[in-house]
Amino acid sequence: MKKTLSLCSVLLLSACASTVPVAPAPAPVQAPAAPRLSDYTLNSGAERAPEQLAVVFEHADLKLRIDPDARSIAGDATLTFLAKSPQARIVVDLDHNLPIDFIAVDNAVLPKSAWSNPEGRLTITLPQPLDAGARATVRVVYHGVPHVAVRAPWDGGFVWSRTPDGQPWIATAVEGEGCDLFWPCIDHPMGKPLMVDEHITVPTGLVSAGNGIAMGVDTSVPGWTTYHWLAKNPSTYGVSLNIGPYETLSSNYISRFGNTIPLRFWYLRGEEPQAKVLFEEFRPMLDFLESAIGPYPFGDEKMGVVETPHKGMEHQTINAYGNKYAKTAYGYDDLLQHELSHEWFGNQMTNANWDDMWLHEGFASYMQPLYMEYLHGEQEYFASLMRMRAGILNKAPIVSGSPKREEDVYNTDRGGPGSDIYGKGALILHTLRAQIGEDAFLRATRRLVYGTETPRPGALTPRYGTTKEFIAAVNDVTGKDMNWFFNVYLYQAALPDLQSIQKGNQLYLTWKIENDKPFPMPVDVRVGDHVVTVPMKDGRGQLTLPALATYTLDPHSKLLRREPRFEEARAYTEAQKKLEKKKD
Ligand SMILES: [Zn+2]
Repeated sequence: MKKTLSLCSVLLLSACASTVPVAPAPAPVQAPAAPRLSDYTLNSGAERAPEQLAVVFEHADLKLRIDPDARSIAGDATLTFLAKSPQARIVVDLDHNLPIDFIAVDNAVLPKSAWSNPEGRLTITLPQPLDAGARATVRVVYHGVPHVAVRAPWDGGFVWSRTPDGQPWIATAVEGEGCDLFWPCIDHPMGKPLMVDEHITVPTGLVSAGNGIAMGVDTSVPGWTTYHWLAKNPSTYGVSLNIGPYETLSSNYISRFGNTIPLRFWYLRGEEPQAKVLFEEFRPMLDFLESAIGPYPFGDEKMGVVETPHKGMEHQTINAYGNKYAKTAYGYDDLLQHELSHEWFGNQMTNANWDDMWLHEGFASYMQPLYMEYLHGEQEYFASLMRMRAGILNKAPIVSGSPKREEDVYNTDRGGPGSDIYGKGALILHTLRAQIGEDAFLRATRRLVYGTETPRPGALTPRYGTTKEFIAAVNDVTGKDMNWFFNVYLYQAALPDLQSIQKGNQLYLTWKIENDKPFPMPVDVRVGDHVVTVPMKDGRGQLTLPALATYTLDPHSKLLRREPRFEEARAYTEAQKKLEKKKD
């Protein structure tokens, strides 16, 4: 699957080396045939309906009862919308395979003729049109067998698994398909509700770890326990269910900004020693990201991590962790660090459109090499960049410049950049940082994440970011027009190609660029034991070499550029794989 490639590159250092994602142990119980999803539900980020653009999604109060034996859910969602202009209808998204029992508006049950949900876009005609500035409270009561993921998180849906001792272990992961797989929402990156209450009811003995703050536990119904969670501005696919016989590690972290952040880790019983070791990694990971980027965005809620049967996902304040406490020579859990980075790049700053998804994945992927540089130094920094460099595809531009659905970004056969939003995105940021310097790079990044260069805990508002806005921030903090950099790296597929020719004692350098776009990228050349920077104005440069001198282009590996050796290595590996297959 295409997503195997893309999410595989999340696992930069460890599991990915063996090509296939590691299955959880034990394997999920065989899932019943998943009901067919409509194309509309299957894809996330389709253009929003005019009715969705015309409302503020103020609140979602979700009551969900989970029945592990029947693998079904019973949902009761109360959604509050504020109309920005007069409205006759409310439109939300909900998988049409989940039958709706009834819909009520402001406590009055609607006749069935007032709503329809043919393909997963649920249109509700209001009993009375809503004036601008007025609110409607829409209650959707539904039930059914939710879509089951075959190989989460590479495809989305419910994961009905079992712990090693046979107890239910359940999760959701819906990045690609969207929130509408299990609750009525606006399935678009900009469809975040301002507030979500989660009341998750599970069989007694199981724990439900949710987004945001724990508000209480209700055991008044025999045999069932309801966990209440409250989260502000959760990203749409960041809302998740995580249910199992969990135990918890708890601590507090006093940040460099002076605020206290609750740390929580829900892990499976019997894994306390490994869980404790991983829990110890929370602090240095937080301190690195806070020192480099800025305050942890959800410090007044928690840094939460939950062990899941699937590999991982950046669920807001409750990161899914299924890396099985892997150990690598890099000495840290790369999956946890990647997902935690998404709290800044994905949840605090959410891309305004899937076309800008590299702002989530490129930045979140670059945080692993940067963390390595911070923890251990340059060897690990460059080693992790090298792994990403070998995986770059260059099949389509990272950013197309027009709105995209999630699938159209992730799938190369649908014309998307695929996994390049991860590794190539990270290497573009590495090149940018080398070009404009650490300070300018981090200032522009802070503007992207927080909308300010001086973020303070308690005064943070989640925001939507765009590529154009990041480019403008880079231009502003550097005082230079850096559009040429982004035009080539982000908006074209092919990498810049540095061509060098030596004639006598003259070394001629030329940037060969697709569509002949300007690319005045300076090039370092090491001649003997000196490094000379060739300015490359107009994409060309020249250097006089001493007699018998040897030279190295870009000796400090600052530049992402086309180098045939990567293409040759990839072609060789693919040919070998084909041969192996034939043998089988
Ligand atoms: Zn990611």
